[in-house]
Amino acid sequence: MGKMPMLFVGHGTPMNAIEDNQYSNTWKRVLKGYEKPKAILSISAHWYTKGSYIQKVEEPKQIYDMYGFPKELYELKYPVSGLEELSDRVLELAEEVSVNNNWGIDHGSWSVLCHIYPEADIPVVQLSIDGDLSLKEHFELGKKLASLREEGILILGSGNILHNLRDVEWDRKDMTEKGKTFDDTIHDLIQGRDFSSILEIENNEIFKYAAPTPEHFIPLVYILANIEEDDEIEVFNRGGEMGSLSMTSYLIKEL
Ligand code: ZN
Repeated sequence: MGKMPMLFVGHGTPMNAIEDNQYSNTWKRVLKGYEKPKAILSISAHWYTKGSYIQKVEEPKQIYDMYGFPKELYELKYPVSGLEELSDRVLELAEEVSVNNNWGIDHGSWSVLCHIYPEADIPVVQLSIDGDLSLKEHFELGKKLASLREEGILILGSGNILHNLRDVEWDRKDMTEKGKTFDDTIHDLIQGRDFSSILEIENNEIFKYAAPTPEHFIPLVYILANIEEDDEIEVFNRGGEMGSLSMTSYLIKEL
């Protein structure tokens, strides 16, 4: 088994779980042809906590952590198992992480995974996002998980690079100039592998617009932390909508 790929997915609206659109269609094929992972470690924007936690349970519950959507979305079942062995491995690699089973598999994970692995036959373990850490500290924590890729684990970061719900324009089909500039800046820094500049961006004025709360941006940092020299970085679903929401996503794979 070689090194597993990694994914940062811009998940957007939960409706993508049940809609057949350009985003969900790409999710369906993005990992086609790759070996199936033993399990998925998912860092979802929607498990935002004080402290860093890992789920450790054989049958995690699926949670519908969104409000006001059509009934169909709450009927979507994605019944994955957990993998305690992976939870233990994360606890071993990162001593600051502890077990917490209050949460479940949230829509940041299942709305995307129901397209990537529709059989729900790969165990999923969620790692929470500690709201007290800086981007740099998330990066350091992420780096501790490096060996997982060699152990058959797919690391998934699920969020949105540009995510400002306050300024959302529901009917708009593209991003604002400011939003596009931010998304492009991050794209160029990723492709130039200038990750340290990305970690500094939270001190930049534009970050207040792009990520007024940073939880949708942070999953990306866990992916960046594990990019190695022999990895190729492929962008997909590049672009965005509703003015202040980008869907730009990255697949990291061994050359
Ligand atoms: Zn979200």
